[in-house]
Amino acid sequence: MSTVTVNCPYCQESMTVNQGDDYAPRFHECCKCGQKFIVERGLSKVKVMKEKDAPCMSNPECREIETSATCEE
Ligand SMILES: [Zn+2]
Repeated sequence: MSTVTVNCPYCQESMTVNQGDDYAPRFHECCKCGQKFIVERGLSKVKVMKEKDAPCMSNPECREIETSATCEE
């Protein structure tokens, strides 16, 4: 596990979250406003997305359901 420091996309609260070592996106819940958001660790930077703004490939739930198909609108 690795920890990264991110800002909540809803209330901008700064917090440290655990990310896996495999660069997979993960859901986190803001410790201040309680909203769910997605953190995706990249090679050089960390992306923080609101759940509804995340593309399918960055949404852990979508990835579980759509493992092989692409998920275009
Ligand atoms: Zn928040």
